[in-house]
Amino acid sequence: MPQRIQSPSSINYYNMCPRCYYYRYIGKLSLDPSIHLIRGKIVHKALEDFFDLKTDGIDKEHYEIELNIILQSIFKQRWEESKDQLDELKLDEKQEKYFFEESVNMLNNWFNRFIKKVITREEKTNFKEAFDTAKPQTEVHFISEEHKVQGYIDAIEEVAGDVSLIDYKTSRMDHMTDEYRLQLAIYALLYNEKYGKHPNSVGIDFLRKNKKYLKVDQELIDHAIEQCRLIQEKTKTDNIEDYPQSGHRFCECSKYMDVLEKTTLNKYF
Ligand SMILES: [Zn+2]
Repeated sequence: MPQRIQSPSSINYYNMCPRCYYYRYIGKLSLDPSIHLIRGKIVHKALEDFFDLKTDGIDKEHYEIELNIILQSIFKQRWEESKDQLDELKLDEKQEKYFFEESVNMLNNWFNRFIKKVITREEKTNFKEAFDTAKPQTEVHFISEEHKVQGYIDAIEEVAGDVSLIDYKTSRMDHMTDEYRLQLAIYALLYNEKYGKHPNSVGIDFLRKNKKYLKVDQELIDHAIEQCRLIQEKTKTDNIEDYPQSGHRFCECSKYMDVLEKTTLNKYF
């Protein structure tokens, strides 16, 4: 089989359960999205739209409140656009309201941190320049042919020449896990390969709380390289027997079995 281009999520998925990996990436089966997945996408899109904002029409005297209102209305619009997907989840009204409000709070928490940066910069320059320099580069795609891995980096922030690669998380988690560390290590590797230098830091923005950073050193880069090498080695075959079920608490094998039962695909597995 040709070597597949992996990603932080495919590698983490394999490490969680090889059989789940088999179903998703080799069998091409897909599971119904969860509210967490759909909500995460909506919040990510809202932030991207917000950074694309043209600041010309913004009232320079009251930009804090105006930007906050704009972010909220962008989010509401993105939520409405996802109505069909949300309806398929069959949440009751109370549940849907809960996730909606939780997302608004999360974005407001993020906004309060962001606007402080704009205010600090605005004191030295002007609003437009402060906004344009406080906002990161978003959704940047990197691919490494050498390590057969790719990734979309949510945000590349640059302050006085210091570069940080940031991933936004909408989850309830607020600490660095092994999975997050690997994701960030791969981002650092991708950045390093493209620009020939380490980013100064990598981090997770836990939107409802704060950012947590990791130092980028050779050990972190080597960790990414090793994981990229291992996944290629372990996924050479397309024999299901080579992909054992892990029994991990997040294993989704039984859900894939349900999907298989409902389709005529099961003769292939
Ligand atoms: Zn599994």
